[in-house]
Amino acid sequence: MSRSETLYTEAQHFIPGGVNSPVRAFNGVGGTPLFIERANGAYIYDVDGKAYIDYVGSWGPMVLGHNHPAIRTAVIKAVEKGLSFGAPTADEVEMAKFVTELVPSMDMVRMVNSGTEATMSAIRLARGYTARDKIIKFEGCYHGHADCLLVKAGSGALTIGQPNSPGVPADFAKHTLTCTYNDLGSVREAFEKHPHDVACIIVEPVAGNMNCIPPAADFLPGLRALCDEFGALLIIDEVMTGFRVALGGAQAYYDVEPDLTCLGKIIGGGMPVGAFGGRGEIMEKLAPTGPVYQAGTLSGNPIAMAAGLACLQEISQPGVHQRLTELTEMLAEGLTAKAEQAGIPLVVNHVGGMFGIFFTDSPTVTCYQDVMNCDVERFKKFFHLMLEKGIYLAPSAFEAGFMSVAHSDEDIRKTIDAAAYAFSKL
Ligand code: PMP
Repeated sequence: MSRSETLYTEAQHFIPGGVNSPVRAFNGVGGTPLFIERANGAYIYDVDGKAYIDYVGSWGPMVLGHNHPAIRTAVIKAVEKGLSFGAPTADEVEMAKFVTELVPSMDMVRMVNSGTEATMSAIRLARGYTARDKIIKFEGCYHGHADCLLVKAGSGALTIGQPNSPGVPADFAKHTLTCTYNDLGSVREAFEKHPHDVACIIVEPVAGNMNCIPPAADFLPGLRALCDEFGALLIIDEVMTGFRVALGGAQAYYDVEPDLTCLGKIIGGGMPVGAFGGRGEIMEKLAPTGPVYQAGTLSGNPIAMAAGLACLQEISQPGVHQRLTELTEMLAEGLTAKAEQAGIPLVVNHVGGMFGIFFTDSPTVTCYQDVMNCDVERFKKFFHLMLEKGIYLAPSAFEAGFMSVAHSDEDIRKTIDAAAYAFSKL
């Protein structure tokens, strides 16, 4: 028995499913999850001493690679001053200034502890601001596990086949209208049915929780226009895309201005962090300046702020996103070419530092239904063949892949060679 197997067996006695977040259990691919000992740069090392080139990157935060020296140093320095004060600090001001500079649609920002908190709070704020109850989300998009958002959700919910979770009262879920990603007609229809009741649309600007689906050219501007027409707020959930697709997020990349933005992952440099922000007039409705309540014992935690600031400073250096995109393109082109040589039908979607691999006969994958038509069994085999060759992909056909700037050309070549081997075995 490997150490991972021993730990997994033990873990299942004490932790539901042996994991603290569902997709980690390898439900989507079968087999024993790897227990990780440490990570550095583009590599993670399991408890059995095997090294893997990592395309999960802690599900997004590790855009600079693991254990980046600037982040490590900042965290150690912060730890020496104390772990948490529950009172304001200078770093929180610096963080807010930095974020609002990088994302101009955000006049103000509030720090929270996860992406889930960010989206949950942004929706409460949108409802409070508009005095409306309904929200629009998209099938296959995941925005964390708040009740109203676990309706036709993606990511782990999709992987384990429960896009609607038990435990969410129907009375809550009825306020969530779900539309089809990249289909503006479905959104207009929802608005026309409830012209005065929709508080907001929440959208992943690049869908990254039903694998990776970029927006059609007219999709995000179309959502903006529909929100304006019907008096709803546009919330762009950049928890995954923020600082990854481009320095200013997907909203800069696609040139669309939301009313509110949600952030997470990269903004914490690997620490548990989220944030939401937007137009000042809306943000001032939050307590203590306004009536919409939102709070957090550890929000703006000094260690998390130190890690996040160091991360944002590093990724603001010229050329980082260009390099990230270049590496992702290199990988996408290599995988596509090898699949073609092997006669394996494959689509690779990618934007900036995120990508998605789809085993499908269809020439494109642009919506939830396209994703559902992919060959999940083939993905499972591919996943395990890649793992055997030392490549760690997300253990689900419904998750995006994440590149880091710590990946080298050589790492990408090794990954493409491993994929050529895997394709030959499928
Ligand atoms: N929004 C999006 C777009 C996400 O991808 C995620 C997590 N993958 C979340 C929200 C929730 O973030 P967290 O897991 O930090 O609660």
